[in-house]
Amino acid sequence: MDQQAATENSCAKLTELALKCGFTNACAVDPSKISIYREVRDACTEDKCNSYGKNWACPPACGTLDDCADRIHGYKSGIIMQTTGVLSDEFDWNGMCKIGSEHSEHITSFSRAARLDYPYSMILGAGACHICETCTYPFMPCRFPQKMTCSMESYGMLVSEVCTGSGIPYHYGKGTITYVACFLIV
Ligand code: SF4
Repeated sequence: MDQQAATENSCAKLTELALKCGFTNACAVDPSKISIYREVRDACTEDKCNSYGKNWACPPACGTLDDCADRIHGYKSGIIMQTTGVLSDEFDWNGMCKIGSEHSEHITSFSRAARLDYPYSMILGAGACHICETCTYPFMPCRFPQKMTCSMESYGMLVSEVCTGSGIPYHYGKGTITYVACFLIV
């Protein structure tokens, strides 16, 4: 099997695993085609999610934007994964939290299985890392550096563009919400 066929085969198997772990859609992504935007990273400094400077997975602890871009572009291939759900209305905060929690569960179960075959992989999700009830940042090292999940936004990715650029939608219609993650491999 040549290198390209082997990569396609790995991405197909990872996509199948992602769907088994509960994600509602997944497909291959080419890390070399992911653009990094300073404006996306700069939105973190507005601290709307109350995590800026409070979590090892968020800026500034996750590294400079150049470091993040180098890391992403150092991976050969990967997949993008989505959890889409339906809200009762656009202010359905409980619904957003529930679907967000389901997305985190999908990431945990996928990551546990996929990292057995790809120990040098990287997973990026949505929002700060919530593995521990309270993050150790900045006084102690991260408790689980191998499991820690940074957000795609903290790496400067425009999530909707990564989805559509890989061939899957980001918007699934009125009343839906979609959370996204990606898994990159060497
Ligand atoms: S694993 Fe724990 S200590 Fe490490 S970034 Fe996540 S919440 Fe913080």
